[in-house]
Amino acid sequence: MVNKALDDELVFADEAGSGLTTVVKTEQKRPPWNVLIVDDDPDVHTTTTFALRGTEILGCPLVFLHADSAAQAREILASPPDIAVILLDVVMEQEDSGLQLVHTIRNEFKMSETRIILRTGQPGYAPEMDAIRDYDINDYKTKSELTRNKLFTTLTSAIRSYRQIRTINTSRRGLDMIVHATGELLALSGIRNFAAGVITQMAALLGVQPEGLICVQRPPELSPAPSDGTLVIAAAGRYADMINMPLDDIHEDRVKHALIACLDKGQHVFSEQYTVLFFGSRTQRNMAAYLDSAINIDDASRQLLEVFCSNISIGLENTLLFSQLHDFAYFDSLTTLPNRRSLINKLDERLLGGERGRYTLALIDIDGFADTNDALGHQYGDDLLKAVAARMRTTLGSQCNLARLAADTFAVLGQIELLLPANLQAIFRAPFVLHGQDVVLSVTMGIAHLVDVDGDGAEALKNAYLALRRAKTHHRGEYAFFTRDMALEIRERSRLLQSLRVAIERQRLFLVYQPQIDLSTSKVCGIEALLRWRSEDGRLIEPSRFIPIAEHSGMIIGIGEWVLRMACFQQAELSRKGFPGISMAINISVAQFRHPRFIASVQSALADSGVDPTLIELEITESVAMEEIDFLGRTLETMKGLGVRVAVDDFGTGFSSLSYLQRLQVDRLKIDRGFIVDIASDERARRIPELVIDLGHKLGLSVIAEGVETAAQAETLKALGCDEAQGFLYCRPIEPHALLEWLGKGAGMALINPPETAPPQ
Ligand code: C2E
Ligand code: MG
Ligand code: MG
Repeated sequence: MVNKALDDELVFADEAGSGLTTVVKTEQKRPPWNVLIVDDDPDVHTTTTFALRGTEILGCPLVFLHADSAAQAREILASPPDIAVILLDVVMEQEDSGLQLVHTIRNEFKMSETRIILRTGQPGYAPEMDAIRDYDINDYKTKSELTRNKLFTTLTSAIRSYRQIRTINTSRRGLDMIVHATGELLALSGIRNFAAGVITQMAALLGVQPEGLICVQRPPELSPAPSDGTLVIAAAGRYADMINMPLDDIHEDRVKHALIACLDKGQHVFSEQYTVLFFGSRTQRNMAAYLDSAINIDDASRQLLEVFCSNISIGLENTLLFSQLHDFAYFDSLTTLPNRRSLINKLDERLLGGERGRYTLALIDIDGFADTNDALGHQYGDDLLKAVAARMRTTLGSQCNLARLAADTFAVLGQIELLLPANLQAIFRAPFVLHGQDVVLSVTMGIAHLVDVDGDGAEALKNAYLALRRAKTHHRGEYAFFTRDMALEIRERSRLLQSLRVAIERQRLFLVYQPQIDLSTSKVCGIEALLRWRSEDGRLIEPSRFIPIAEHSGMIIGIGEWVLRMACFQQAELSRKGFPGISMAINISVAQFRHPRFIASVQSALADSGVDPTLIELEITESVAMEEIDFLGRTLETMKGLGVRVAVDDFGTGFSSLSYLQRLQVDRLKIDRGFIVDIASDERARRIPELVIDLGHKLGLSVIAEGVETAAQAETLKALGCDEAQGFLYCRPIEPHALLEWLGKGAGMALINPPETAPPQ
């Protein structure tokens, strides 16, 4: 063992480069060399001890053990002290007793370090050469040769070789242990496990009881329990209670001061009562390990400790790195709350735990956070999120699992009765104090019970997100519970999206056209292009069903470009076929309008079709008008620069402010169908269309009413001064060949209603 002192004294100064220091000097008794004399002749025992009495070899005294037969020697060797040399008589009970004993020593007792000197009384009675070689026998002497001087030189050379062999073996064993210890330690994840492992391995290596503790300086900021200063991160034996304690709080002064001395000096501390080892780290997170036992240290031990400590330091460094990576992977660095991945793990645990009926997952989203962030800066936004995290920690942290999932989305997993919507809302009732000001937050929540989860944690999270999305669109500032219908709806939407992809590939989308009538002349003044999707079984799928999906998935960009080109080509064809001056209205969705390629796609549709741009009218909805005013203004200006007209579709359903209308370059307002329905029968229902018509005219815009189904509606609109009308009264949306036919009949004035589902061309 490395703790066995072989040297004279344990008084080391700080050795250059070794980093080892003995702070407390220790007087050490020099261990003797044990020499066993095995001989059936009592005279040999007395002569030998007499000849060597008081002799020291290599600085240490000799101690003799005696056996007068091979059998007695076996007894002594069965529980041997460290025997350096055996002086062994060859002939005892039997002629080869000595050689048999050698066999036992080497092969049974496995004593390979002990040196053996054979002695025989009969000159010429030598053991065979083979035996000397096979049994690693040091020397062979006749008893007459063993004078004091000869004995001394023979023993000295035997003891010297014993010492060398021992040192080599000790080092080898120590290195084996270090390799083993390092391997074991690296397999432990987490700094705490690592530190606990260091205590065990260190105690084993030094051959002492694992009674001690380990402190680390400045634990990683990201650890879930951040704490400044030095902390006890592992403790064993009677120190076990001190785990997690700040070093300052340790009551045992001796332990505390020893650890502080070690960390301050960056050096090991050895004393008669204890040992403190220092483990340096490049990242300033140095570690000190206190062991209750003193260790005797010799050169070999010193070197082994050095190897151990530097290995452990590297291991510590790696472990810290691993735990940091773990923290990055499982914790949100801004709020130090667990992140999505850890939440999913927790959800998986709960779902497997068989108590899903008791748990619920609530997602809490801060309303308008992005705007706050933009308006007040990211630092303010960060502080706000930290304040929310802190509030959630104090109110729910001890009973629930918290997480931050996205910028402003937090999650709480806990028992249903704790997470009732009213309880959650109450958390946000009191204002947050930020930068000295009171801030009241509005939050929207999506809540999903785990009992509704068929799959794993990821599905539970998806459910809660569905509920949150529902709440965001329909109950902003409030909450929605997940229902299985929501999941069905989503599944249906994704099926539809899938089929839409296929439909596009198979060219199942086509355009129909609905005429627009000038109310003063009753002539066709324009047509609107409307998209249709005929499914594989011939049914028509409503645009109101698939356009939102196309918008959401981004497919509307490609579809929209295609519509734009088709409609432009159709307009050019109308002109060519003798119906000049009929404008073509094309619906543009917000996503399209925002897309950087939008203007270029209008340009190329115009250029490629050769259409007169003034006959193209792009319909934007009021939600487009909600875009950022500068961007909106610029884009509209560019559109106008191309020569096209712009109409605001479904006017009155959105929230466009009047000042926007005044500033933006639009040509026409389309009164939404909803305002037309009762216009003829209910006088009050006329007020909004009347208002819109007046407003439009005052701003110099023309006004068209959509959804006109009856002559009475048309008459009323005409009386209100509306310029144009579009609706089933005049014509349903129809396919190009039917349109040409309709126009050919001069049907601008004829009120026909051909079926919309005319057979495809
Ligand atoms: P919208 O642009 O307001 O189109 C007018 C809608 O009113 C059309 O519905 C049309 O068929 C319907 N309509 C016309 N006259 C009457 C009537 O007298 N009574 C009733 N009840 N309805 C009438 P449709 O074709 O189902 O389109 C619905 C919406 O889908 C459109 O509303 C438009 O917002 C969108 N959409 C249609 N085609 C496209 C397109 O190519 N691109 C984009 N982005 N959106 C389109
Ligand atoms: Mg439209
Ligand atoms: Mg409309």
